[in-house]
Amino acid sequence: MTVYFSLFGRKMEIDLIHLEPEGERIRRSFEASDFGTPRKRDQLRLLRVDLTAWVRTEGGVVRVSGEIDATVSAECDRCLKPLELALVGSFDQRYVHEAAPSGVDVDETELDASELDIEELPSGVLDIRDVTREQVDLLAPMHVLCSEACLGLCPTCGVDLNNGACRCDNEEIDPRWEALKRLQNS
Ligand SMILES: [Zn+2]
Ligand SMILES: [Zn+2]
Repeated sequence: MTVYFSLFGRKMEIDLIHLEPEGERIRRSFEASDFGTPRKRDQLRLLRVDLTAWVRTEGGVVRVSGEIDATVSAECDRCLKPLELALVGSFDQRYVHEAAPSGVDVDETELDASELDIEELPSGVLDIRDVTREQVDLLAPMHVLCSEACLGLCPTCGVDLNNGACRCDNEEIDPRWEALKRLQNS
C-alpha cells in the first residue's frame, strides 16, 4: 500500500483507497507543533493528544474508531483566565471516498440515523491530524469555566470581579439580588 510520510518520518496520512483488508491500527502521541500554528478562531489549543484508532473498510465505507486522550488549553468564557482541560473519549466516524470499493453513493443510499454522519473524503487520503482535531473539538464542553462560581469581568471597566468588586454602577443587576429587592419592596 502507498504510505505518506511527513518530514519527520511520522506517517500522518492514510491512503484509504489501498487499505489492507485487516485495516490499519494507529497509536500516536501528538504534540502542539504537529497541528501547526493555532488558527485565531480556535477556542481550544491542542497541547498533547494520544490517539488510538483502527481504520478499516466496512460495507463500502471507511470506518475509523478509537480513543482520544487530550490536554488542551482554553480560556474561561467569563473571566478569560487561561486554563487546561483534559478531554477523554471514544469516537466512531465513517468516511466515503470516490474510489469506494462498492461505489457507495451517500446521496442515493438509504442510510439509518447512525450512518448519517458519514463524511466525504474525495481525495481518498485521510489525515489523522484532521480526525484528531475534529474529535477533540467534539469532546470539548459547550462552556469552559474556571469555576461554576466565576464572576467574570465587569462589562464596564473589565476588572476581574473574582478579585473583588469594582466601583462601576452596572445597570444589570444579578437576578438573585433583584428577587431579594422585590421581596423587600413588597
Ligand atoms: Zn473564570
Ligand atoms: Zn467595573
